[in-house]
Amino acid sequence: MATQEEVIQSLKTVPYPGFSRDIVSFGLVREVRIEDDLIEVNLALTTADQDIPLRVKETVEQQLTRDFPTTQEVNVVVAVSRPAQSQSQPSTPGQASQPTANPLSGVKHVIAIASGKGGVGKSTFATNLACALNQILLKEGKSQAVGIMDCDIYGPSIPLMMGIHQQPEIEDNLIIPLSNFDIEVMSMGFLVDPETPVIWRGPMIMKTIQQFAQNVKWGDLEVLVIDLPPGTGDAQLSLVQTIQLDGAVVVTTPQPAAVNVARRGARMFGQVNVPLIGVAENMSYLEMPDGGRSHIFGEGGGPQTAVELQTGFLGQIPLDTNIREGSDHGTPIVLAKPDSLPAKAFHGIAVQVLDELRKPDQA
Ligand code: ADP
Repeated sequence: MATQEEVIQSLKTVPYPGFSRDIVSFGLVREVRIEDDLIEVNLALTTADQDIPLRVKETVEQQLTRDFPTTQEVNVVVAVSRPAQSQSQPSTPGQASQPTANPLSGVKHVIAIASGKGGVGKSTFATNLACALNQILLKEGKSQAVGIMDCDIYGPSIPLMMGIHQQPEIEDNLIIPLSNFDIEVMSMGFLVDPETPVIWRGPMIMKTIQQFAQNVKWGDLEVLVIDLPPGTGDAQLSLVQTIQLDGAVVVTTPQPAAVNVARRGARMFGQVNVPLIGVAENMSYLEMPDGGRSHIFGEGGGPQTAVELQTGFLGQIPLDTNIREGSDHGTPIVLAKPDSLPAKAFHGIAVQVLDELRKPDQA
């Protein structure tokens, strides 16, 4: 007869579809029961993709039958819950009867800003995009309509970039986002001690992100911009399992080498059915005093990435000292210098993002 420990070891060889991590370390195994010749495994998944539970169930059954050939019966039960949804997603019956249970019920569109690696200006991009979106929405008569959720656990920098220095308050067990420049801001940085380096392990990342995503009381927002951690690993999977995203923007640099990295990130969104809104290229060029452009980091990475990912190229953001200064001083360039070239570039991208979100098949 198999032991519980042996069954768990066997389950550790079953990867989550599309990922190299296994279902045990993702915390999906709720119970393993062994009775005479029966092995029963209870799993709990959060996904909107109906295929995934079926694939997991099938693979687990095959694996257990292979590892424990003398067992008469293998019973795998998968409990599936849907991710918290934004307004643009169809709601489940449970949510219709309990609208306040979903902290995202007032949010119309949720988008993620992603990059294959750190240091490409993803957070700077997320902040300025949010500011540009807010300017457009203000003109439409909507105030306090944009939020930023900083999930970059490795370097949460959005509060500083948005000039926010206080800590959020808790109300009815929900965290109330802080606000500046008419934009709601919530950051993982508020939850971790900046003096203590945190070593994030897979399951820990997953739990923290899920809690973070489910316990913030967002207002009635038109767009919530999520700054993802760089890379394509567990944190991103946790996030997209917890919140249903309406789309993702991939930020890259102009180096041709960046294309490979960005491609990996985009493949991850494909695996979890999140549509790509497009690719934005940051640090594209430096404008010279004579009006010429110096391509310090090479050329072509952004458009090439967009072609590879079969998505749109949203535009280029130049290298500009004012961008860095705006971030360091807590006033993003879109607000500090709205007539500057970079601010206009962010604005152009924001218009496209909003158009994409408002397309009939997205709404
Ligand atoms: P990431 O989130 O990808 O790690 P950040 O947004 O934190 O990157 O940016 C890294 C650094 O580069 C920051 O100091 C930021 O101010 C600076 N930066 C980002 N984009 C630009 C740009 N276009 N021009 C000048 N500095 C930039």
